[in-house]
Formats: sequence, C-alpha cells, structure tokens
Amino acid sequence: MATWAIGDVTVIRIEEQIGFASRAPEDYLDGFEREVLARHLDWLVPHHYSPREDRLVNSVHSWLIRTGRHTVLLDSCAGNHKHRPGFPRFHQLDIPFLNRLRAAGVQPKEVDAVLCTHLHSDHVGWNTMLVDGRWVPTFPNAKYLFSRIENEIGDPRRNPAAEADIQRGFAYCDSVLPVIEAGQAVLVDGEHAIDDSLTIVPAPGHTRGHVALWLANTAGRALFSGDVMHHALQIHAPHWNSKFCELPDVARATRRQLIEQCVEHRATLFPAHFGAPHVTRIRAVPQGFSPEFVVADRN
Ligand SMILES: [Zn+2]
Repeated sequence: MATWAIGDVTVIRIEEQIGFASRAPEDYLDGFEREVLARHLDWLVPHHYSPREDRLVNSVHSWLIRTGRHTVLLDSCAGNHKHRPGFPRFHQLDIPFLNRLRAAGVQPKEVDAVLCTHLHSDHVGWNTMLVDGRWVPTFPNAKYLFSRIENEIGDPRRNPAAEADIQRGFAYCDSVLPVIEAGQAVLVDGEHAIDDSLTIVPAPGHTRGHVALWLANTAGRALFSGDVMHHALQIHAPHWNSKFCELPDVARATRRQLIEQCVEHRATLFPAHFGAPHVTRIRAVPQGFSPEFVVADRN
C-alpha cells in the first residue's frame, strides 16, 4: 500500500480504480490547450496521459489519514452497486475496495471520520453499502463530515435541480441521505478542526460548498485538495477548469490560491484524481508553477 509519512501522521492511498478519463482532454478540461500537453509529454506518458488513446489518466482513490488520535477516510470514491446511468466508470461496480482498506490495516468499524470534499458521485460512494437491499453506512462508528452548503445543494427535496444533476441526484439519495438518517452526519460551516493537526477549510468553485483539508504538524504541511484540481497538468495551467466545475471563476481563483499556499509552505499535495505517483509538491518556476512528484515512503 502506497504510504506517505508526515511526522507521525501516515497517509495511505486506497485505490478504487485507475484508468482513462471517459472523454477527450478538450471535453474533460475547460480551456485545454494541446500545445501545453505537447510541451510536457516527457513526464505525462504513461501515468498521466496516453497518446494512443488520447486520454488523460484519471485515478479514483481515497486517502486514509492516521494521526495518533484519529483514522480519517477522505473522499469515498464511487462505491459498489450504485446506479449511475451516464457514468460507465461508476455504474454498478463490484470492486474489493474494503479488502484494500483492510489490507492497509483498518477495519471499517475503526474509521472515526469520513470527510467528503463535496457530494459528487465519485466522492461519496463508499459512504454506504448495500445490505439486504438497503443502503447502510459502511463505517458504523464514523462521523461523516459534509459541508452544510453541499448538503443543501445536493438534497433534491430542497433543491429540485439536484434531481436532474447526474453528479448529485442519485448519489445524494443512496450515499448521503442514509448517513444523515442514521444520525452519523456532521454538517460543517467555514473552518472546522478535526483534531490538532487536521483542519477543514472552504475551497469553493468546483462545487459551491467544496472543502479541502490541511494537515499541519511539526514535520510540515499537507493539503488534501479534492477536486480543486483534476489533473497534474493543471499545475502548469491553473486557469483550466474541469468541465464539471460549477462556479468557473471561483474555481480558478481557489485553485491558484491553494497552489500558491502549497508553494509557500512546501506542502505535500494529495489530490483526488492525479495519476501515479498521485502526490506532489509544487514549485514556483519562471513560467508559473511545476509539480515535483513525491513517491511513497513505502509501498
Ligand atoms: Zn471527483
């Protein structure tokens, strides 16, 4: 299991799936420029882009964060057996994700907190699992942390537009609502500390209520950025949004601000969808910014 250490905190990547984006780069990233891709092919192939398929590589994984006090799962991928018409990569999956979690040394009952950076379908799936035909929380002892704004936008009973939103409607009903009904949800506003080293901060743009998570301890800082960025090439081109960013101008501003903060603090960036090695630092270069990938301390 790919594991990074930041002082006494360990971060383990729990893979759900890695593969090609389902759309061509132009349909995946808004503002995509072929010349930027061409300039960076030497490091993009094969882990971030396939010239043969002409597809960007997209990983779907959770970050398992173990501090001395807490075991936190950040984002919960697409999940098994979920009905996701229009999303073949997320529809009716049967992936041994929980076995991978156990292989990382954690039983579902040992997870203390699940944080969803936002409520799109590829970030909430393992919140629940199907037991005797019902969706039940996968992590029986966890508090599930959701942004209050996300919860308001995602709930089709309060926002009729969510029902038609293919990223949200079904996902809310099978992966968020059962957690709320079980009394395990905590709705978060503004900054929110999980413990001494972990702080949730608003990071709006991809969605209105999107949040990120900062880790800070004596050894350094790390940022878990969710979908603030979808692909490592966006470090070179922070003005590119994903096609699913709900507030384009805000998404660009948030991305640039967090990139600058990563540079300033020499923070390790743990994004939701980057290809291998999935983790990077960011360095300022004359043309802007450049990734400096960080291989795992152990595999
Ligand atoms: Zn995503």
